[in-house]
Amino acid sequence: MKKVKEYLNSSVLTKIIIALAVLLTLVALFVVVSHRTPNSGDSVADGDTCKTVVVVSSGDTLSGLLSAQGLSHNQINEIARVLKSGAGITGLRAERDKIEFVRSDDESPVNKIVVIPSPWRQVELTCDNGGAWKCNTVDIQRDTRAVYKSGVILDGDSFYLAGMRAGIPAGILTDVYDLLAFEMDFERDVRAGQKFSVLYEENFSKGTKVDNGHVLAVSFDALRGNVKMYRFKKSDGSIGFYNEKGDGAIKSLKRTPINNAKVTSSFSTRRKHPVLGFTRAHKGVDFRAATGTPIPAAGAGRVVKRGYNSGHGNFIRIRHNGSFETLYAHMSKFKKGVNVGTVVKQGQIIGFAGSTGLSTGPHLHYEVIKDGKHVNPLTVKLPAINNLDGPNKKKFLEYREALDQGIEYLSSHPNMFIVL
Ligand SMILES: [Zn+2]
Repeated sequence: MKKVKEYLNSSVLTKIIIALAVLLTLVALFVVVSHRTPNSGDSVADGDTCKTVVVVSSGDTLSGLLSAQGLSHNQINEIARVLKSGAGITGLRAERDKIEFVRSDDESPVNKIVVIPSPWRQVELTCDNGGAWKCNTVDIQRDTRAVYKSGVILDGDSFYLAGMRAGIPAGILTDVYDLLAFEMDFERDVRAGQKFSVLYEENFSKGTKVDNGHVLAVSFDALRGNVKMYRFKKSDGSIGFYNEKGDGAIKSLKRTPINNAKVTSSFSTRRKHPVLGFTRAHKGVDFRAATGTPIPAAGAGRVVKRGYNSGHGNFIRIRHNGSFETLYAHMSKFKKGVNVGTVVKQGQIIGFAGSTGLSTGPHLHYEVIKDGKHVNPLTVKLPAINNLDGPNKKKFLEYREALDQGIEYLSSHPNMFIVL
């Protein structure tokens, strides 16, 4: 903690470092809070007989739900107007939004409506005696903790299995996988005995866990060395992930566009073609993928080809910034709205896996073309995006050192967390 105190005395402190220093001081002073509150996603439970809670399902409309509660046509119009002008809400989202209807007793009309578009926001509509509705938005206090989980790969394990065993929630594990996939080839780099860890956020409301937040730091002992990544906010407010030296961890392209997909055929300059029978180069990598599996764009770019040929079947080719292009073949269908000229983001779905063209079964055939030449997607050196400039790099390195101290502490105190 000495380092942290030095930061506090320094005149070049950033807010981030102060926040972290304070947080690490908290770790040192109080942190022994045994956690593991039961993971109770939504928590609406009270014995109030005058409150009706409705989870919006598909097909529900605001007016339909209000009408079912006995509200008049005029009141419904008024409520819709107030919701729009006061909270910007124009419609309900099935399986996401909740609405509470409150009456002063069983027989009374509804005099309060609470629309809950997220666990962190409530829109309260109240009706005064004159019958006029007013709208008030309440932000729910969120307490965020950073928790640390670590695990080890066992014989015959996948990273997913090992991660689940380590108690890492599935959503966090997916994020971790997405990050590590920029640096690692999960097919070849994962072996029994390798250790990994993640520091991530858990969000609480009034002591009850509501959801998980961001991944803050990741570490994996890969074959080619320890891979570490840290989430960091630059002075302009933009957020990225960086390796321990402060180089951008997010690359311009993903090596494996589909998460956790098994490589069924590697890149090679010569291989026996499974359908044609004769030896021919395999210019890409094949990933096992069931028909209909969404295919995300490996990087940001512009669709330059979308079509069909006898070899590739339905395929899309994307030109990325710099000298890279990627190609996705054997698609069952294209994503609606993705055409030649469409600008896509990294991770945006462009189509769906299939077995069109020369193919023995559903899979994604993925090619990376650099300066017009096919290269191995799993090994080609990819440029990082969102690198840090000098001042940001300096701040990052200080932040990273402080965060590492926190991680070090948590790694030997498994039931503790950092209050953020
Ligand atoms: Zn292929």
